[in-house]
Amino acid sequence: MSKQVNIGVIGVGHLGVHHASHLTKIKNANFVGLFDSNTQRAEEISKKLNTKSFDSIDSLLDNVEALSIVTPTPTHRSVAEKCIKRGKHVFIEKPITSSVDDAEYLIELAKKHSIIIQVGHIERFNPALLALSNLEIEPKYIEVHRMAPFTSRGTDVPVVLDLMIHDIDLILSFISSPVEEIYANGVSIMTNSVDIANARIKFENGSIANITSSRVAKDRVRKIKMFQQDLYVTIDFLAGISEVYKAMGATQNDPQAIMSAPLVGADGKHRQIFYEKPTVKKTDALKAELKNYINAVLGKEKPMVDGFAGKQALDVAIKIHDKILEDLR
Ligand code: NAD
Repeated sequence: MSKQVNIGVIGVGHLGVHHASHLTKIKNANFVGLFDSNTQRAEEISKKLNTKSFDSIDSLLDNVEALSIVTPTPTHRSVAEKCIKRGKHVFIEKPITSSVDDAEYLIELAKKHSIIIQVGHIERFNPALLALSNLEIEPKYIEVHRMAPFTSRGTDVPVVLDLMIHDIDLILSFISSPVEEIYANGVSIMTNSVDIANARIKFENGSIANITSSRVAKDRVRKIKMFQQDLYVTIDFLAGISEVYKAMGATQNDPQAIMSAPLVGADGKHRQIFYEKPTVKKTDALKAELKNYINAVLGKEKPMVDGFAGKQALDVAIKIHDKILEDLR
């Protein structure tokens, strides 16, 4: 029988309960139990999942080798610090921490204790994105919209750290060039913090990303459009749909093309446009993310989003937020 990872969850609120529930079903994970500072919530969830509720983080740490930390972002540093100092691997929900200094501190601490940090940038595991893994995506221009109806959850951080950071992480995973300049604006509508934000990131290689995020919307939207030489890709992360438009050279009109002559590419050659809708597997992104974590702890895989990637996304997010604050009246 292959080895199982003894694992627990700290924080079983809105999202943590799903972590705990998935971990009870992942083959290589032995879900030992949970801790939540809200004892009533801890009891309710441990009963529901038929698992143990520990009376302190320390007593949970005595029994596990890895944790999922799903507490509010301002607590990530102190909770993760405790776990890492006890030599336990940590999956930290996004954003990794509230400040880049805190993220750097945890990364250094993890290095010292030979501990894995994985960060919960779940969109990397979205099946609509995974369906495009055979394409070389190196966009010159990205347009992203992420909108959500208002809820008080997540408002302990500005919209850039709550919603936009998902897209920042995706963009940094596609564009392998340093950020050259950031332009950003935003407004407060429902909270004292920024609720709607728009940012334009210019990269040193000339690529541009334009991101709009709002937590004051009627409907949920999570869409990305990416353009590069002879390729246009759209992903609807909510509907789980990807679409690909490719411009390809052709000597004669191909009946499969959705648009043909008189398109001429930059090289002067004839182009036709072909459309594809890749098959998207119906998988659960959170379960896939946690499986990646368990396999990383077992030394079978690398975390898709490690502490460094989490810190990079946070760094850009904080720079965007600072730009917004400079301009906010
Ligand atoms: P929540 O408020 O619903 O739940 C947090 C839980 O943590 C609560 O039950 C609370 O009692 C408990 N808690 C607070 N401080 C604690 C501590 N020091 N020790 C132990 N338990 C503690 O919050 P949520 O919406 O589940 O968000 C939790 C984290 O997950 C946040 O960092 C958030 O940004 C992140 N999140 C990520 C996604 C995603 O798409 N990846 C979505 C939602 C939330």
